[in-house]
Amino acid sequence: MSAAIVQLRELRCHFASGEGLLAAVDGVNLDIKAGEVLGLVGESGSGKSTMGRIIAGLQPRSAGDLIIGGQAMPRHYSRRQFKAMSTQVQMVFQDSYASLNPRMTILASLQEPLWSQGVTGAVARDKACYWLERVGLPQSAGERYPHELSGGQRQRIGIARAFIAEPKLVICDEPVSALDVSVQAQIINLLQELQTEHNTAMLFIAHDLAVVRFLATRTAVMYLGEIVELGPTPALFEGPRHPYTARLLAAHL
Ligand code: ADP
Ligand code: MG
Repeated sequence: MSAAIVQLRELRCHFASGEGLLAAVDGVNLDIKAGEVLGLVGESGSGKSTMGRIIAGLQPRSAGDLIIGGQAMPRHYSRRQFKAMSTQVQMVFQDSYASLNPRMTILASLQEPLWSQGVTGAVARDKACYWLERVGLPQSAGERYPHELSGGQRQRIGIARAFIAEPKLVICDEPVSALDVSVQAQIINLLQELQTEHNTAMLFIAHDLAVVRFLATRTAVMYLGEIVELGPTPALFEGPRHPYTARLLAAHL
């Protein structure tokens, strides 16, 4: 029914390691459909973040194809190509601290993705004010700097920045892992609301299987750089077909 916003074909990413080359992503084929929430699970070191970073243009792949919105992406982007790609794909990190400029006010940080699309002045400012409120922060927070916010508030800003320019896909890489348990559910609910409101596709990377089960329509399981199982979330959780998925579920549930 819905078209693929991202297509990965035999995607590979190798890193040099002590014992030679480490295949962090080892021949992944995957379609992310427009508007879907795709969960990505797997133990630490299985290649989830590397795959997310490649899709978001933050990490060059070693081989294979990355197709976004029907267009084949280069391995290395020019500034112009990166800008064009980032209108379609945005990323939310585990801790937004790293992605926020410490010298910029929150209101300026929110406008940054708009500025890079040529939306400036009062239009950008009004939009940033709207998003500040939409993610649950008071207008006064706009004049603050990243270090003056709590971790949960910073993550709300990271989420607003990801959604503000209306991308087709938002990749969330362990977006609540660094937060207090009491804040995690609020952030998950916010992400779900925004995803539904804007019909944005979401690649949701998490080691918390319960959250993926709650959010994702389909779930992919990654092991040693490969996707070993992919299916509708209920079926995957109720009747895993791959032995690794079964072990992962047994260890967590
Ligand atoms: P996950 O997100 O599933 O925990 P990662 O994608 O972070 O997995 O890492 C996959 C593998 O690639 C790990 O063995 C990790 O140590 C390695 N790796 C990731 N990034 C780099 C890098 N920049 N340089 C070298 N090795 C890396
Ligand atoms: Mg990771």
